[in-house]
Amino acid sequence: MLVLYKSTRGNGELISSSQAIIAGIAPDGGLYVPNAIPKLSVDLGSMVKMSYREVAYTVMKEFFTDFTEEELMNCVNKAYDKKFDHEDIAPLRKSSGAYFLELFHGPTIAFKDMALSILPHLLTTSLKKQNINKEVVILTATSGDTGKAALEGFSNVEGIKIIVFFPENGVSQIQKLQMTTHESSNSYVIGIDGNFDDAQNGVKAIFNDEEFKKEMELNNRMFSSANSINIGRLVPQVAYYFYAYLTLVRKGDIALGDKINVVVPTGNFGNILAAYLAKKMGLAINKLVCASNENKVLYDFINTGVYDKRREFVLTSSPSMDILISSNLERLLYFISGEDSKKVTALMNSLVTEGCYEIDDSMKAGLKDLFGAYASEEETFEAIRQVFKEEQYLIDTHTAVAYTAYKKYLEETKDKTTTVIASTASPYKFNSAVMGAVDSKYKEVDEIALINEMCKLSGVDIPKAVKDIEKRQVLHKKLCSKDHMKKVVKEIIFKN
Ligand SMILES: *Cc1c(COP(=O)(O)O)cnc(C)c1O
Repeated sequence: MLVLYKSTRGNGELISSSQAIIAGIAPDGGLYVPNAIPKLSVDLGSMVKMSYREVAYTVMKEFFTDFTEEELMNCVNKAYDKKFDHEDIAPLRKSSGAYFLELFHGPTIAFKDMALSILPHLLTTSLKKQNINKEVVILTATSGDTGKAALEGFSNVEGIKIIVFFPENGVSQIQKLQMTTHESSNSYVIGIDGNFDDAQNGVKAIFNDEEFKKEMELNNRMFSSANSINIGRLVPQVAYYFYAYLTLVRKGDIALGDKINVVVPTGNFGNILAAYLAKKMGLAINKLVCASNENKVLYDFINTGVYDKRREFVLTSSPSMDILISSNLERLLYFISGEDSKKVTALMNSLVTEGCYEIDDSMKAGLKDLFGAYASEEETFEAIRQVFKEEQYLIDTHTAVAYTAYKKYLEETKDKTTTVIASTASPYKFNSAVMGAVDSKYKEVDEIALINEMCKLSGVDIPKAVKDIEKRQVLHKKLCSKDHMKKVVKEIIFKN
């Protein structure tokens, strides 16, 4: 079946997947969605013994229908290779009553690698398919993890420049070092004096700047995005929900056809939207538990139908979820409104002008697939302590938010369905908060020294991503005000 893409806001034509990957965001400010959510064309039972790559290919080919088998296979093979330090790519670990889907075995030890290791290949293949010979400038806002994952993915890819903006005071020391020590001739990393939403808004404003776009055009250049609004980010994430399910079947922990619940620590709503798509494709998912930290705008939304970003922004120990505007939620709104672009546009306009919106009753009914729960900082630390005490298994703060949400869901519903928790980062990436939760004696130890302490405590080898990170040279020192992002981007593009 041919799948085409259209904007959630309804303007513009239907385009192919390669065109949507190149465009990133739609011209009317909407996000691209498939005109129909595809079903798997092969029987799930025949996939039980498939490798991660085979599953990824089988799922993705249903969405990227204008790629040839050879093109897509090539992308998959380049992405999911030895960069990952586990042969399963996304292994499943049973602990404390649930299954942790470890999505952090890639080069930057967070789940963003699952999509960002393939996006550059999808993009360069798409450019070739569309006969585009322009220099592509990837513009990205990051709350910490996307930035480094995008830098890894796009490093030294010919014809591409990558510019990453991060909140100077909103990321961990290790996250910051990972980005500022990144070595490649085509990358630029800049700290801003705002939070993630400021960075994301600045990037969006540049994408929507018609004059800037024309200037780029005249210079044979174009923008693209590595943020999770790109369909080339979203679709690869659908694959690991299938893979997790198939792993459970293969291990005999569930029978084919049994339902599972999925818990996802959520920020920009990309990861959980991928699980939603997996469910819509026919994967036997019962509930999608959307886990928030103290920035619980999504928890409130799921429980009341009111999305209200007018609240204090809290810096938490799970910074990759410190978000008040969850971009990918627009796609959910689109689906639960019965693909009503007018409604979506009105809601999104209201978010810009009023800072809030409320969905109607028919849309609220569409939220029944979701369960919202959130974790306070104290609950997050308690979850880390508990899982470590029970199973000597160290989970990171984001995963701990999800584990807390899982426990709250269990308590409220008594639903015993087999549960997969998306484990989105290695504890090594957020070692200060993780070690501090396990024992307060680590609270005074700095993040670099904690790397070795964590190794001793957990027995898990130090991943390449953080090994000797303090010895690397800081190459990116540029800072800018959140109001000057456009100027900085211009300087980079036109002076280099
Ligand atoms: C990005 C990120 C999240 C949030 O994922 P979304 O797709 O933005 O909802 C959660 N945990 C970690 C570690 C992340 O890097």
